[in-house]
Formats: sequence, C-alpha cells, structure tokens
Amino acid sequence: MMEKIFALPPRMRSRAALGMTGPAATGRFALQTCEDCNNVQYPPREFCRKCLSSALVWRDQPRQAEVLAEATIYHSLEPAFSGATAPRTGLVRHGSGVVLVAFLTGDCRVGDTVHLSYVFAPGGSVVVQADPPATDKEKASVMTSTPRPLAGLNCYLTDSENPLGQACTSALRDAGAANVWGPASRDADDSRVELVVETSWYAGTGENTSLGQRIEAHLQLAERFAPVLADRKGTWVSALSFAALSAYPDQPRYSAQMAAAQALAISLRARLLSQGARLVAAYPAKLDIEEHQSIAGSTLSWPSLALALVTALQNGHEDVYPDSQSRLWLERLTKDRKALEREMAMSSVP
Ligand SMILES: [Zn+2]
Repeated sequence: MMEKIFALPPRMRSRAALGMTGPAATGRFALQTCEDCNNVQYPPREFCRKCLSSALVWRDQPRQAEVLAEATIYHSLEPAFSGATAPRTGLVRHGSGVVLVAFLTGDCRVGDTVHLSYVFAPGGSVVVQADPPATDKEKASVMTSTPRPLAGLNCYLTDSENPLGQACTSALRDAGAANVWGPASRDADDSRVELVVETSWYAGTGENTSLGQRIEAHLQLAERFAPVLADRKGTWVSALSFAALSAYPDQPRYSAQMAAAQALAISLRARLLSQGARLVAAYPAKLDIEEHQSIAGSTLSWPSLALALVTALQNGHEDVYPDSQSRLWLERLTKDRKALEREMAMSSVP
C-alpha cells in the first residue's frame, strides 16, 4: 500500500512578507503603507513602489475587494497543491488599488465583491483568502488550516480541575468536542488527542513547585503530545498572561514563570508548525488570581477566557488578547516596549 505523504505548502517568505504574520495572528487585515506618500503596497516590499521611501508601515485596511480573475489549479509542482482537492486562486483588486493574489473560497466569481483575510496555511505561512462577504463567519477552504471546527475533537486539558480547566471543559463541550480529558480521566486515549490546552500555568507561584519543575513538566507534556498533534494536524493551546510579554513588576516570581512559559510556547510552536500542527497562545491582562491583584481595570472571568480560546481556534487566530487592557498593552508594546515597561513600573510599586 502506498503511504500518503503529507506535504506542507511552501514556507519561505521574504522578510517584508513576514510582516503579514502579526495581523494574521490576531485576525486583522493590514497592508504596507508608505509614511511619506501614503501609497499602499502589495506584494510586501522594502521600498515604496512610488517614491522609493523605506518608511513602510503595516496599517489596518478595509477588507473589501473585487475579483478580477479566477483559476483552478489542477496540477501544481508544489506537492501540497497537487492533491485531489484543486485550490481556486484569483486576482482581487483591493479598494486602495493594489491587486492581490488570493485563494478563493465558496462561490466567488469574477466581478464579485469579496472579503479579504490573512489565514495561516499548514506550516504557518500566511496566505490571502477571499470569501463571499456573507459567509465570512464560516469560511472554509481546502488549502488553509482554518477554521478548525471543534466538533468531534478529542481534547486534553493539562489541569481540568482548576477554574480555567473547568471553564474550558464546558466551553469545549458547548463547541461540540467529543471528549475533554484531563490527567485524572481513566478513559483518556493519548493517541487520539487533537487539541491540548495547557491550563496549568496559573497555578499559584506560592505553591510548593519550583519553576524548574514546572518547566520539566511542560517539556514532558510536549514530548508526550507533540508527535500525536503532528500526526493528527492538531493544536496546542497555551493559556498564559500578558506578564509573559512584559513583566508585572510587583510579581517578579510570577512574571519569570510566565516569561519561561512564553519561551517554551514559542519553541514548541516552531516545532509543531514544521510538522503541520500549530500552537495558539493567550495573554489576558487580569484574571481572578492573587498575582494579578495590582493590575488596574476589570478582571476577565474564566468562562470569558475559555470562550476567547474557543473563538480563536474557530477563527484560526494564533495570538489571543482577550480583554481591552491586553489589547491596549499590545499596541503600546508594539509601538514602544520601553515606554510600556516604564508605564507598568510606575503603576505598581514592587
Ligand atoms: Zn512612498
């Protein structure tokens, strides 16, 4: 019997084109724009196509575009595109005037108005997808890895007893998961797991477990599940905290734990992507735990965090900023990391 070989779509991108990863990670649609002459660019490049300025920045753009041409690829030199499912591609003209190459979903035809998104192909490279506007919520594509409906999935929670574990259990069941297992489940079957949710990083830093032990525990879980996820093209979810990206100064121990968790998540993501699986990470600003007490603003409830994770999985996002404070901080972090560091230092007294 011939073994079916799984091929990833091409993953090499220019450094300029990698700029699409950020918007894709949180479900935004942005195009490179020249700060000197305002010209919108596509494909991504190093210098403005109109005035040769190098001051190109990624700015959010309306998603509307018009299909100019369509084609179905029946034979491709890329193994990933030469299977039984022939992808449809097309040229679409964005409102700014630039013309993009996009994968067409649904019934998009020449002359139709479409809705553009960046989506992750297996392997983690970003492609442009054009959907009929009405079906935006339920996009489907043979080529992209999104959405990943949760119906029928076998899930494993690294801690199913803590508040997030409990909230994830109900959110995943509501979304149609077949099984939600935890460390205590007797009927858990590792070889069928398609979704791992790491719910265990919030365990109190005061507890009698050292950071080294937590890191070892994560690495063991990664060894246990990464091969299965690669096999089943599954997803790992790391529920972290914004402290993973910018320390909460009055919580040095907790912040260090989160920074370690972030480094582990990024390493695991690279490994999973190279095997056609993926990793989603969440960075809430304030949860109902002792370590977040000094953070100003409203507390995100556990069910809200669980729902944000489920929604991100359904929409194919990679990074989740589930509350307004974390989104605001992300904006500041992207703009000026040092200013955010000082802002957070001034708002809490260690
Ligand atoms: Zn320019």
